[in-house]
Amino acid sequence: VPETPLLEVRDMVVNYGRIEALHGISLSVSPGELVTLLGANGAGKTTTMRALSGLLPLTSGTILFEGTDITMMKAHDRVVAGLIQAPEGRGVFPGMTVLENLDMGCYGRPFEEKAEYQQTLDWIFELFPRLAERRKQVGGTLSGGEQQMLAIGRALMARPKLLLLDEPSMGLAPMVIQQIFRIISEINSRGTTVLLVEQNAQQALTRSDRAYIMETGEITKTGAGSALLTDPAVMSAYLGVD
Ligand code: ATP
Repeated sequence: VPETPLLEVRDMVVNYGRIEALHGISLSVSPGELVTLLGANGAGKTTTMRALSGLLPLTSGTILFEGTDITMMKAHDRVVAGLIQAPEGRGVFPGMTVLENLDMGCYGRPFEEKAEYQQTLDWIFELFPRLAERRKQVGGTLSGGEQQMLAIGRALMARPKLLLLDEPSMGLAPMVIQQIFRIISEINSRGTTVLLVEQNAQQALTRSDRAYIMETGEITKTGAGSALLTDPAVMSAYLGVD
């Protein structure tokens, strides 16, 4: 019997007014997977993430989460269900400390027991030692990479079943990008299913089980990350190889 996908999107169409941005995309993510959605600027990656989070309505199509139709479910109920999108690094609360920012992550999914809260916090500080060192520092004074780490940490405080990450490497220095991708792999290997949107093809494909290539609102190719890494068309379009 095939396993029920954690996330299944069927023929999703999304419009901005009269403009159709997504023309009927289908994708799935199985429990435990790290899946990347790869595409150039304007391909529709952010639109996809916003639709999955419940921030944009579908014109047509279906979103299933753990086999349940959540197409019409409100954004905060999706958070309660465990579908959590990390905000962009710039989305951290600049006047709040690192610890206060992390605590905000529990807002939609409060802990029932103090021990579980502490355990999750300890894990996040283990993943991001920099955040532990800076736990009393306000968010606005962190570096770009540290703010991105904080944004991911905040999402982890909600104990996602599916973590949505929209271009976590954007605007970061190469060394920091390496670090962020390593941590994403670590989060995944510790049991959190991840759907990652990226333009950084090399890093993302290397670390993904599978990937979908998106172009102008459509999925044009899918396969194992390792297979797409050596696909000549993908290489020339996304890896800067002519
Ligand atoms: P980027 O990496 O630049 O964010 P993307 O792959 O995330 O690109 P989207 O931002 O999802 O792409 O945009 C997909 C399409 O929808 C683009 O043609 C874009 O111009 C259009 N679009 C995005 N936001 C809006 C909006 N608020 N109103 C109208 N059109 C929009």
